[in-house]
Amino acid sequence: MTKILVIEDERILRKSLVRLLSAEGFDVISAENGRIGIELANKESPKLILCDLMMPEVDGYQVLSQLQENPDTAMIPFICLTAQEERAVLRQVMELGGNDFLTKPFTRIELLRAINTQLSKHQRIIKDQKQAVEEVIVNLTNQVYYDGLTNLPNRILLRDRFEKLVKQLNPNQACIPLIIITLNQLERLTEGLGLDYVDLLFETLIERINHQIGANDTIVRLNNEQVILIHPSIKNKEEIIKIVQTIIESFNQPFTLVGYQVILNTSIGISLYPDHGTDFDTLLKNANIAAHQGKQKKQNGYEFYSDAIAVKSKDRLLLEIDLRQAIQENQFEMYYQPQVNLKTRKIIGAEALIRWQHPEKGRISPVDFIPIAEETGLIIDLDQLVLKTVCEQIKQWQNNNMFLPISVNLSGLQFSRKGLVKQILKILEETQIDAHYLDLELTESAVVQNPELAEQILNDLKKLGFKLSLDDFGTGYSSLSYLHQFPFDKLKIDRCFVADISNNSRNAAIITGTILMAHGLSLKVVAEGVETDAEAQFLEDNNCDAIQGYWYSPPVTVEEFETLFQDSK
Ligand code: C2E
Ligand code: CA
Ligand code: CA
Repeated sequence: MTKILVIEDERILRKSLVRLLSAEGFDVISAENGRIGIELANKESPKLILCDLMMPEVDGYQVLSQLQENPDTAMIPFICLTAQEERAVLRQVMELGGNDFLTKPFTRIELLRAINTQLSKHQRIIKDQKQAVEEVIVNLTNQVYYDGLTNLPNRILLRDRFEKLVKQLNPNQACIPLIIITLNQLERLTEGLGLDYVDLLFETLIERINHQIGANDTIVRLNNEQVILIHPSIKNKEEIIKIVQTIIESFNQPFTLVGYQVILNTSIGISLYPDHGTDFDTLLKNANIAAHQGKQKKQNGYEFYSDAIAVKSKDRLLLEIDLRQAIQENQFEMYYQPQVNLKTRKIIGAEALIRWQHPEKGRISPVDFIPIAEETGLIIDLDQLVLKTVCEQIKQWQNNNMFLPISVNLSGLQFSRKGLVKQILKILEETQIDAHYLDLELTESAVVQNPELAEQILNDLKKLGFKLSLDDFGTGYSSLSYLHQFPFDKLKIDRCFVADISNNSRNAAIITGTILMAHGLSLKVVAEGVETDAEAQFLEDNNCDAIQGYWYSPPVTVEEFETLFQDSK
C-alpha cells in the first residue's frame, strides 16, 4: 500500500482527506501541525505528502524547506494545499522544491489526479536513478578492468590472464615472460604537450607493438609511462629477445603527434615465470627493477631481471631515501673551484660544486647522487637549495668587498621547468644580489631537448642580466653553429678533450678549432680539468680565455677559497 502523509491543521479537512484517500486504497497517516508533520515524514518515509501552506507556528513553507534539506525526505513528492491562488505564493512553493499545488476547495477528481501524476513521475525518476547507478557500476568495472581510453584490458585483467596461463603451462618445458616497456623522458613531453597527447601517444605505441606480436599476447598500459606485455610461453630466452628487439625497432621511427615529431627512447625490463617469481606481483616488480636498471645502462635497450640487479637497485633505493632526508636536513656543503685567467693568472670567478656529507657513508660524490636526484625529480629541490646557498655566499663575500661571479650548475630537468626564471629571481631578491654575479651552467642536452623553450628561457635570463655558460662542450651531439642561436657568453670545453693534449693530436685539434670558432662567435672559452703545466701552456698558446682544474686548484671550502682569492690579487 502506498503511504501518504497529510499535514493539515484544519481538523475537518484533515479527517475528510484521510477518509477519502483510505477509501481509495492508500495507507494514510496525518499530522495536525508542521512540527509533527516533519517528524512523521522522517519516521514513516511516506511516498507522497499533502501539506497545507497556512498553519500556525511551523507553516507549509517551513515544512517544505526543512524536508528539502534532508536527503532522505527531499525526494518525496510534495503537494501544497492552499486557499489563495496567488502566483507569487505558488512560485515560492515551486522554488522551494514543491511539486504541485491544489487550491481549496478542490474536488476528489482533482485531488486523485494530482496524486497519481506525482506518484508516477516519482517512480520514473527512481527508475532513471537506478539505471544511472547501474551504468556507473558498469563503468567502474570497465575502468578497473580496462584502460579508459584504449579499452585495453589493464592490470587486473592482466593478472587474471597471467594466472590462466600459469595453469596451462607445462612446467617442464617453458616459462612465461613479463615485459615492461618504459617510455623515457615522458615528463618533459607531458609538461610541454599535456596529458591528452600522452594518451594519444600510448595509443599509437600500443598499435605499433600490436602489429608485431601474436594474437595470444596481451598488451596493456600500466601507468603514465609504462606498457606491459605478457607473452603466452617461450622455450628459451632467444625467443623473447627476438620479440623485444622488434619492439625496440618500432621506436626508431618518430611518433607523430598533431604535427609534432617526437623520438622516444625506451627501456625494457623482462622477468620470467617461474625463474624470477611465481606470483604476478613479484614478477611485475622484478620486471620493473630490470627496466630501471636497463635505463641506466643504455637507451633503447632491454634487461633481464637478475639477483645482481636486485642488490644494486636496493642500494640505489636506500641512497634515494637518504637523499630525500639529506635535502630536508641540508647535509650539503658547497665547494668552490677557481677559474683563472691564463694571461694574468688571476682568479676571475669560481664554479660552485656540491658536496654531500652522508652521516654514515661519509662523502658521496655528486657523480653518484646527481643522477639519482635527476631521475627522481629531487634535483629540483636540490638545485634550488644550491642556488640559495650560493647566492647567500655571494652576498656575504660582497659584504667583505669580494666581488666575483660564481657559476652554478643547472640540471636539465630544473631548466625545462615552468617557473624557473621566477624562482631564481625570488632567490636574488631575498639575498639581494645582482643577476650578473650569477653564471648559470647548462649542458647541451638540457637545451637541445626542447630548443624553442630553451631559447626563450635563455633569452629571458640573459635580459635579466645572468651570464650563461655551455657546460661539457664536445660531449654532446650538436654543432657549435647550431648552439649559436642560444645567447651563451661562455663555452666550457669538457675535460676529456683537455686530458693529454700534448700527446693526443686529435684532442689538440678539437681544442684549437673550438677556441677559434667560439671566438668567432664572440664566446669566451674556459677549459675544464686542466691538470698539468703542459696543458695550461698549450691552452695559453691557443688563446683560451680561462682554465679550471687541479693544476691551479681543486674545488675547495669557502675559507680556502677566500685565501686563494686574496693571494691571487
Ligand atoms: P661539472 O659541471 O663538469 O664539474 C666539473 C667536475 O670536474 C667537478 O666534479 C670537479 O671537481 C671536476 N674537476 C675539476 N678540476 C678537475 C681536474 O683537474 N681533473 C679532474 N679529473 N676533474 C676535475 P664534481 O665536483 O665531482 O662534479 C661532478 C658533476 O656533478 C659536475 O660536473 C656537475 O655536472 C655535477 N654537479 C656538481 N655540483 C652540482 C650542483 O650543485 N648542481 C648540479 N645540478 N650538478 C652539480
Ligand atoms: Ca659545471
Ligand atoms: Ca663541466
